[in-house]
Amino acid sequence: MSKITASMLYNFVQCPHRFTLDLFGNSKDRDPVSPFVQLLWDKGSAFEKEVIEGLETAFTDLSKFKGEEKERMTQEAMKRGDNLIYSGRITAGDLVGEPDILRLHNKFYIAGDIKSGAGEEGASEDSEGKPKKHYAVQLALYTDILEMLGVSGGRCPFVWDIHGEEVEYDLNAPQGVKKKESLWALYGTCLGEAIAISRKAIQTLPALAANCKLCCWRSLCKKEVKESQDLTLIPELGRGKRDVMIASIRTVSDLAEADISRLIKGKKSPFPGIGPDSLLKFQARAKLLQSAGRPYIKKEFALPNAETELFFDIETNPMRDICYLHGFLERRGSSERYVSFFADSPTTEDEEQAFAQAWEYIQSSRPCAIYYYSPYERTFWRKLRERYPYVMTEEQLDELFSPETAVDLYNHVIKPCTEWPTNDHSIKTLAYYLGFKWRDTDPSGAASIEWYHRWVESGDQTIRQRILEYNEDDCIATRVLLEGIRSLSQKSH
Ligand code: SF4
Repeated sequence: MSKITASMLYNFVQCPHRFTLDLFGNSKDRDPVSPFVQLLWDKGSAFEKEVIEGLETAFTDLSKFKGEEKERMTQEAMKRGDNLIYSGRITAGDLVGEPDILRLHNKFYIAGDIKSGAGEEGASEDSEGKPKKHYAVQLALYTDILEMLGVSGGRCPFVWDIHGEEVEYDLNAPQGVKKKESLWALYGTCLGEAIAISRKAIQTLPALAANCKLCCWRSLCKKEVKESQDLTLIPELGRGKRDVMIASIRTVSDLAEADISRLIKGKKSPFPGIGPDSLLKFQARAKLLQSAGRPYIKKEFALPNAETELFFDIETNPMRDICYLHGFLERRGSSERYVSFFADSPTTEDEEQAFAQAWEYIQSSRPCAIYYYSPYERTFWRKLRERYPYVMTEEQLDELFSPETAVDLYNHVIKPCTEWPTNDHSIKTLAYYLGFKWRDTDPSGAASIEWYHRWVESGDQTIRQRILEYNEDDCIATRVLLEGIRSLSQKSH
């Protein structure tokens, strides 16, 4: 059996099939590493180096050593009782861990990782953040090894995160108010399944999911999913739902042809977590995919009637936490033009200026209807307003995004009121379906993040132009989608 490492468990939490393919897949089937993933790795290494160079305390640096020598040096450092050990290696049984940090704690050791992301997820004004499962299983694996070695200082490992915070992971605590299972129990379950996969005692299946976009096995899995007509080809029917249905319904055509009324008993479907309404919705989608039918309206909706329409899309860079571009396709009758406000440098001054100019532009375009896709624009503008409160008031922001004049086409129309014969409801997929083509060969949010990074580093005008064209095409795609929606008819039963 292969040794289980922390990064293998990290991948297991992202996708169990990734764990399988990393162990048993043919490396020739791997996709090349995308520039965006490379950028993430580079940023991670640069951040770790910055943190280590900024340490104001003495530490034992084992980063130059590898394999068994690194392990031996780590054992010696722990025997000496060194206060802080950087880049050590610990093993026990079938587990191998290379924690960034081992720190003396109550005469024993606890482990920590340096992460170039936030230490927790889902934090907002109203709620505290929660531990990230993929971080937790890595930290738990180190802690498990330390326990087996008899040198664990407790189940309280930590993350040093991008904000300079030390975030403790209390492995014995429940995961949340509703989820009583502890992170330690979660780790035990993940490890058990990972070991079973590595012994070929259980098999995993590919899926079509959002996190496949950055995965090195995406082309292989996409091909297999299509060939097997896997249920994850149905929008919003993810891996978890597929796994509870698969024993009785295996493929898209199985679902399209199933006698659902016989499966539903009262208000219950036979599949945990999938209610009767969802099951019927998924069957309608399966039928649409199966027949390659036309998209249709399933529920009435109203759209604003305005002479001037603005199709709005922003570009942000999460690594720098900046919104650097506000783009608008302005349509007045039959004439169209693209208007953009670009932050040429990743500074608060330039971000504020672009934000203020975009707001002035919207005000000068009124009366108008605004169309955007998903709540991201609204959420980020709220953040910008809090960052630069002199630009606009809270009331102005609420009024700007009120449904009478601003329509989130995804949440207000596509999701609740229409059905499409596609595998997801992203703007890219729907606009492609309607015949629109982006000028760029690699149009994606992830790619644009990498372009902006290179623009800031190099000042290369061709990269700036590439970003602008990509954003303009996103705005045009929103207009194409609106026209597609307007041309839909109600489904005839
Ligand atoms: S492409 Fe998707 S299903 Fe396949 S291994 Fe990667 S994440 Fe898993």
